[in-house]
Amino acid sequence: MLELPEAITIAGQINKTLYGKSISNVIAAHSPHKFAWFYGDPQNYHELLAGKTIDEAKAYGGFVEIKTGSAVILVGDGVGLRFHDKDEKRPAKHQLLIEFTDDSALSATVQMYGGLWCFPAGKLDNPYYMAAREKPSPLSEMFDKAYFETMLSAAEVQKLSTKAFLATEQRIPGLGNGVLQEILYCAQIHPKKKIREFSGDERERLFESLKLTLKEITDHGGRDTEKDLYSRSGGYETKASKNTAGKSCPRCGNTIKKESYMGGSIYYCEGCQPI
Ligand SMILES: [Zn+2]
Repeated sequence: MLELPEAITIAGQINKTLYGKSISNVIAAHSPHKFAWFYGDPQNYHELLAGKTIDEAKAYGGFVEIKTGSAVILVGDGVGLRFHDKDEKRPAKHQLLIEFTDDSALSATVQMYGGLWCFPAGKLDNPYYMAAREKPSPLSEMFDKAYFETMLSAAEVQKLSTKAFLATEQRIPGLGNGVLQEILYCAQIHPKKKIREFSGDERERLFESLKLTLKEITDHGGRDTEKDLYSRSGGYETKASKNTAGKSCPRCGNTIKKESYMGGSIYYCEGCQPI
């Protein structure tokens, strides 16, 4: 899943590789997928985009937004975006294939679920996209200690677990279940720990880890469990993920546990992330 560091990495790669390319052909909804979401009829995408040029790409939370003249191509967090140079094979299955006049292409493939929205600028009012654009990015200066303390002190979050607080309700754009595990491992906080039980020191550690860990993952081009625009794994070595489950914790020697919790997996160290 694309989360903030991966979306930023891919947007940067699009700016480097695709900027200025002219769109010649668009194929949408080629491979049927139950949970692929489009803007209107995907068969109109060709007419909307053909002849347009790729402008700037930006990340908003886990979304990648690509501007093309008066239209926008937006992909959500469950979509794999890949670049294919002119001699490279295109994937057999895809939900969106954008071909350029130089015979290179961009493909988008939905994993479990995801949106592939192509629309005239300003026309999409998806609430998640709006929230991701409007709320301060956790990497920005606006997302400071005071802002975080206000979130953490809200009456309605006191009963929540740390995972529910950080990774649901779009409170923090692009902070999903993957980077969550890394942030909590570094902060030495259990994902099930209740917000109301936090000590002052834990509040401090969580904020510091959130800022530093997200920056570190972004600086390394995303997590090693995810792929970038060129199908390469990210350079950030995950500490609490499917790659480390069952292995021993480099910090304390206990085992990294995997558990199901709130519709997804959590990974944590039993030794140094006590509940
Ligand atoms: Zn440990």
